[in-house]
Amino acid sequence: MTSTASPETLSTRRATRAASERLRRRRLFAVGAVLALLVGVLWVSALLGGARETTAVAPPAGPALAQSLPAPQFTTAAAAPSICDDPAVAAAVAAGDDEAVVVAAGGGTVFREAVVAGAAPCVSLSDPARRWVVVNKQRPLDPIEYEPQNLVDVKGLTTFNAGILRQDAAEALQAMAAAIEQADVGEIGQLSGYRSYGTQVTTYQENVARGGQAEADVSSARPGFSEHQLGITMDLMPCSNGCGTLDDFGASPEGQWVAENSWQFGFIVRYEEGYTPITGYEAEPWHLRYLGPELARAYHAGGWHTLEEFFGLPAAPDYAG
Ligand SMILES: [Zn+2]
Repeated sequence: MTSTASPETLSTRRATRAASERLRRRRLFAVGAVLALLVGVLWVSALLGGARETTAVAPPAGPALAQSLPAPQFTTAAAAPSICDDPAVAAAVAAGDDEAVVVAAGGGTVFREAVVAGAAPCVSLSDPARRWVVVNKQRPLDPIEYEPQNLVDVKGLTTFNAGILRQDAAEALQAMAAAIEQADVGEIGQLSGYRSYGTQVTTYQENVARGGQAEADVSSARPGFSEHQLGITMDLMPCSNGCGTLDDFGASPEGQWVAENSWQFGFIVRYEEGYTPITGYEAEPWHLRYLGPELARAYHAGGWHTLEEFFGLPAAPDYAG
């Protein structure tokens, strides 16, 4: 309400207004002076820069200059081309030749990076017939009762329950068993390779009956969730002086050799010590999973310890339900 303001109040207001006006002008002048100084500095430095450029040696021709410049980092992720656009990759995928796919992509590491970056739409980590399939407690086989093609007996090893694998994995295991003997390390036996959906039903039920469901879930897979159903996984035993048990394998000379060298035959130890929160399983140094030479080499060279991390998948500590 200005009409009720006293004369003193009005004159005080006028004085305050005049003072703030002076302050505003001073501020404007200061800002103007700073701006002028800045423009001056920029102008002088531009002149100096121009002089420098004109005295410099002429740069090489366009293309050479472009090659000498480092590629900007931000374009690599955004413009990652699909490995599937490569005709050789596409042809190998269509032919079902998994090893040729990885080779054509540029090797296991390039293949892995493309999958992780989403630049491999023709590669399905859910296809149970492929070497790169990932089965875990979050990723059941699809279809759940999948049966692999080309199952054969693995020869040359002491056999217990099922010495059966898909042919590519069987040949690789035979080669590895021979190498272990040649290296004078000992001898491996095979306890359990391919297990059908039906067999896994029985195996899992037996484990639940023996130790309860919680115990069964950390040491064996539920039906439809086992790598053994893929036909490319084998449980090994140490068999130098008569065969030991699965639990003896990790500490045995054969087990240590396998941990260090199985990648050379296309295998990985799937469940390592210390990775239960990711794999969902306690350490199983005896459980060898075939990936093929290129992918196993990349897994070894990259220092990977779980297939989940290798392919950038979420951890699978437990079943969904
Ligand atoms: Zn196993």
